[in-house]
Amino acid sequence: MATTNDLVTSRPGIKNGDGGTTISPSIYKEPAPIVDKDNPLESMMQRFDRAAEILQLEPGIYQYLKTPVKSVIVSIPIQMDDGSIQVFDGYRVIHNDILGPSKGGIRYAPDVNLDEVKALAAWMTWKCAVVDIPFGGAKGGVRCDPRKLTMQQIEKITRRFTANMLDVFGPNRDIPAPDVNTNEQIMAWILDTYSMHTHRTEPGVVTGKPLVLGGSLGRREATGRGVMHSALRGMDKIGLKPKNATVAVEGFGNVGSISAELLHEQGAKIIGISDISGAYHNPNGIDIAAAIKWSETHNFLLEGFPGGEKITNEELLTLNCDVLVPAAREDRITKRNAHNIQAKLIVEGANGPTTAGADPILESKGVLVVPDILANAGGVTVSYFEWVQNRGGYHWTLDVVNERLATTMNAAFDRVYDTSLKHKISLRLAAYVLAIDKVARVLRLRGIYG
Ligand code: GLU
Repeated sequence: MATTNDLVTSRPGIKNGDGGTTISPSIYKEPAPIVDKDNPLESMMQRFDRAAEILQLEPGIYQYLKTPVKSVIVSIPIQMDDGSIQVFDGYRVIHNDILGPSKGGIRYAPDVNLDEVKALAAWMTWKCAVVDIPFGGAKGGVRCDPRKLTMQQIEKITRRFTANMLDVFGPNRDIPAPDVNTNEQIMAWILDTYSMHTHRTEPGVVTGKPLVLGGSLGRREATGRGVMHSALRGMDKIGLKPKNATVAVEGFGNVGSISAELLHEQGAKIIGISDISGAYHNPNGIDIAAAIKWSETHNFLLEGFPGGEKITNEELLTLNCDVLVPAAREDRITKRNAHNIQAKLIVEGANGPTTAGADPILESKGVLVVPDILANAGGVTVSYFEWVQNRGGYHWTLDVVNERLATTMNAAFDRVYDTSLKHKISLRLAAYVLAIDKVARVLRLRGIYG
C-alpha cells in the first residue's frame, strides 16, 4: 500500500508545496505555536488598519477591502481503509477578485481554521498587488493530518474537496496552488477531477502542477528563489555582503531548504536550520547540500543530522546571526520572543511568521523586516508565469523564468522600499500601503455594481 511518503515527486526531499513543513511520520508533533493574543487574522487586520489610515481610505472602500468576497466551507466525507467514514472540513476563502481571478494555495494541516484561511487569503490579495500581477487573493485548506493518512486517502480528500469546489475553482475564476503539505501530485488530482467535470483538460485551473501536465520550470524553487532575491536586496540596504552574512533558516520544507541552498550559493554562511524534529546549529556553517541529502534519506526529517549541534526551535529564532529566514508557519515571532531576536534582517519566507504585536518591538530594535507579502511572493509570481504559459501555449526556459522572477521581485522590493522612505514607515506597512492603494484604485475605477 502506498504511504504518505509517496507524495515525493521529482525532487526528493522537497515534497511539499510552498509551506514550511514536510509531510513526515506522525511521531513528531508540530512545535507548539508560541501563543500571544494575536491570531493571523488580527495581525493582518491591524496592519491593514494602519495602512488604511495612512491612505485615508474612504469608509466604504475600507469596508469592502477588509471583507472576503466569498468564504466556502465544505465537508469532505472519506471512506477509510477499515470501512469507517471520517469527515474532514474544507475551506476556500476568496478575499478579493477585483484585479483578476483569485489565486492562492491549498494547505492540508490539522490546525487549519476559517480565521487562518481568511488571513492567508487577504495576504494573497496584497501579495499579488505588491508584485503587480493581475490576480486577486484566495486561500484554501483541509483540516487533516496528512502524516496520518495514506496516499489513497489524500487522493480521495483532494478529489472530493475539488468536486465540492467546482463552482469556485476555474482557470479564469479561482486558481489553487500548493501550500503547506500539498504538492504537484495533489495539483494533478485537482486538475484531473476538475477536468473530468468540465469534459476537457484544463491545465490553467491549478499552478504548481507537474511539468508534464503544463507546469512551469522553476516553479518549485520559485518561493525560495524569491526569498533569496529579497534577502540580497535587504542585505544591501543594511550594508551587509552575502559572503559576510550568517543566516538562520526556520523550516526545511520547500521554502526553507531552497532559500538556505540559494543563500549558501550566494556565499552566505547558514549557521542554523530547523524542521519539526528540532533545530541544528553550526557556527562554522552548515553544509546545506548534506542537510538536504540527510532529510531525503531520513524520512524527510533532519532528525539525527550530524552537521550541527541540536538546539531548540525557539533558540534557532533568537540565534546570534545577521539574517533570519522564518520559513515555517504563522505566529513564530511574537511579542514574547521579539525582544530576543538578534538578527539585523528578517526575510519572511512563511506567511504571517511575525505577529502584529511583534512589529513595534522589531522596529524599535532597528531590525529590517522584509515582509511575507513581498519576500515570499516568488511562488505566486511564477504561478502567474505558469498560468500565462498555459493560456498562451508557451514553454519558457528556466533562464527566462528565473530572469523574469528576478526582475519582478527586485522591482517590487524597490517600490516597497521607496514607499517606506516616502512615508517613513516599515517595509511591512509600506507593502500594505502599496497593495491596498492599488486595489482601492481599481475598485474606484470599476465602481460598485448594484
Ligand atoms: N502558496 C503560495 C503562497 O502562499 C503560492 C500561491 C500560488 O502560487 O497561488 O504564496
